[in-house]
Amino acid sequence: MAIITMKISDLGEFGLIDRIGKTAPRNARRAPIGIGDDAAALLLSPSSVLLATTDMLIEGVHFDLKTTDLYSLGWKAAAVNLSDIAAMGGVPRFCLTALGIPTSLTVEQVDEFYRGFSVCIRKQGTVLVGGDTCSSPKGLIISVTVLGEADRKRVITRAGARPGDLIYVTGTLGDSGAGLEILRSAECGVRSKNPAVRKLIERHLRPIPRVAEGKKLALSGLASAMIDVSDGLSSDLGHLCEQSGEGAELFADRIPLSKELTSVKGLKQQPLEYALFGGEDYELLFTSPVELEREIMSLRIRATVIGAITRRKGMRMVTEKGEIHPLAPGGYDHFLRLRRGPVR
Ligand code: ADP
Ligand code: MG
Repeated sequence: MAIITMKISDLGEFGLIDRIGKTAPRNARRAPIGIGDDAAALLLSPSSVLLATTDMLIEGVHFDLKTTDLYSLGWKAAAVNLSDIAAMGGVPRFCLTALGIPTSLTVEQVDEFYRGFSVCIRKQGTVLVGGDTCSSPKGLIISVTVLGEADRKRVITRAGARPGDLIYVTGTLGDSGAGLEILRSAECGVRSKNPAVRKLIERHLRPIPRVAEGKKLALSGLASAMIDVSDGLSSDLGHLCEQSGEGAELFADRIPLSKELTSVKGLKQQPLEYALFGGEDYELLFTSPVELEREIMSLRIRATVIGAITRRKGMRMVTEKGEIHPLAPGGYDHFLRLRRGPVR
């Protein structure tokens, strides 16, 4: 009898996570939020939760030591985890770092990594309290865990969006994806003096976690759902819609793009494509009932309305001319190695 084996690429990253989730019975009393959100929320007292998140960065998958310095890598390893706490509206308090270190890495490089890491966490009042250190046979492996806290009733999950809610995003989208492309392309070069090019690269190498913005949204109680943009707007909005059981319409001409992204010449894709499919912007994507728009604006978190939640499932993109196109999630999937969605 033939043994049928399933390849991980048949499931994709998110299919695999769902499968892992089935092995972990929910304990809604002790862990009101488990697998499936930006961070787990674990009950500490009747009114407060511990938020826990972990993310890995692997050489050759997430970064290339030819295009990042160790300071930036340390910064980014902290930022991507702090961002998941921000996406729940929490306050990051403690972190742990686990490293798999190849023999090629020097002590000075490890020092540089921790210099960048420390500057990033200190800005958020977070302290390093532990970790693990091992050798790695090939490439640098970084795993960071961040623990945060939140008022139990104020945690913002991916699941609360309702039809009619407006969709907002902080800052601008797409810079990081364009920055990565520039870093990878030999002809533009990492040493470009063009300030706009430098800015896009910086946005990729040293993203700013939107912790203050997440905290304001949680305190205000105005947001119905939230996620950080790590995989790409189309993919992360897809997660939010799926968890909320709703659909969404995005307004193409409302998606905030930086002047740097729209001014740099010679990029392979359109600015909007980087915003939709590029990922690693670490902005906050959130929803809120339409009648609260003025109050959201009064929070002064640089948020832009980019669409609305719909009862109709699936995602659609409304162009400037009013044409409606289906929008498929097209961010990065580790096993499908997918970067772009089929929107045109
Ligand atoms: P994010 O992009 O916000 O870091 P991920 O897409 O990495 O989120 O993960 C989605 C959810 O799945 C999170 O709740 C995460 O904790 C969980 N998850 C991912 N991988 C695993 C795993 N191997 N075991 C258990 N939970 C996992
Ligand atoms: Mg996240």
